[in-house]
Amino acid sequence: MQDERFVDTGLTREDTDLELSLRPHTLSEYVGQKTVKDSLSIYIKAALQRRDALDHMLLYGPPGLGKTTLATIVASEMGQNIKVTSGPAIDRPGDLASILTNLNQGDVLFIDEIHRLSRAVEEVLYPAMEDYVLDIMIGKGPTARSIRLDLPHFTLVGATTRAGQLSAPLRDRFGILFRLELYSPRELAEIVTRSSGILSVDADEAGIREIASRSRGTPRIANRLLKRVRDFAQVRADGRITESVAREALEMLDIDALGLDRVDRNMLLAMIEKFGGGPVGLDTLAATTGEDSNTIEDVYEPYLMQLGFIMRTPRGRVLTPAAYAHMKRTPPKDEGVGAQLRMVLEERE
Ligand code: ADP
Repeated sequence: MQDERFVDTGLTREDTDLELSLRPHTLSEYVGQKTVKDSLSIYIKAALQRRDALDHMLLYGPPGLGKTTLATIVASEMGQNIKVTSGPAIDRPGDLASILTNLNQGDVLFIDEIHRLSRAVEEVLYPAMEDYVLDIMIGKGPTARSIRLDLPHFTLVGATTRAGQLSAPLRDRFGILFRLELYSPRELAEIVTRSSGILSVDADEAGIREIASRSRGTPRIANRLLKRVRDFAQVRADGRITESVAREALEMLDIDALGLDRVDRNMLLAMIEKFGGGPVGLDTLAATTGEDSNTIEDVYEPYLMQLGFIMRTPRGRVLTPAAYAHMKRTPPKDEGVGAQLRMVLEERE
């Protein structure tokens, strides 16, 4: 059996088909992210009235929160086409030049993982974003000369898990910056309800709530869990997703009541048992748990921080008493987590 990690927020092949069918197509279908939607609908209306392309837009936030979806919605609301690519796929400046010269007026160019563009490629992007021009070198050696091509007005939508990883000159060239937030259980329930309608899954309200509350604030996980629970309901129950069916299915997948999986729990346990609740540095934590430090930072930590289980401090990560309570452990008294937290809070003040 494939070793699929259920809380993994990256895409699996199975997800790709699922996501195409479940992806909202309009801003009004896009659940949550109210501040982003409110501003975006104004920017879109204004650009449409001016008959101009929308400003370049940078979306950042953990994977699976709807960055790609938002880019496709922007294109459809603007009545334009979208071209989708990613930082690692654009190897050389020439690759980007050919993408840019094939764009049409008003097109949306979506670059996922934009922080992974090389410096040389980024440099082609600067004048393209700023002045809609492309500088290319013709020939080699002493006869080489640079020519300037005009490009159509397009909108670049860049997505990244961390805005901090982007180089400053690139970040400064985006007129619109949006940070996507983890979704509330209520918003996730809305998404799961919508998805069960599309997939014709029979689920009651309590069953949906159970899936939503274990989806770590992430629509991609919510949709993936819905599918797994549906399979379980079909084989082990009468096909209907109820609270108890959902709970049983998710427990079988080793996902606890808050949506934490084995990796989260191992991480919390390592912090309790090996580091007395912290502070512990990210790299040490990665080495101890055998996880990649980027994955910890992008995928695991945001949700653990939202739950109030982990705090980031200048000296490393510290566990909170709430994390101890969830893991059914007693926090150390004086020299332990309580004292460390106090120290951290004092340092902040
Ligand atoms: P990202 O690009 O941030 O990794 P995606 O845009 O691919 O995330 O979103 C993953 C899936 O989650 C989408 O296919 C869609 O089905 C669902 N989704 C994401 N955001 C929303 C939302 N706001 N409302 C409804 N469904 C959403």
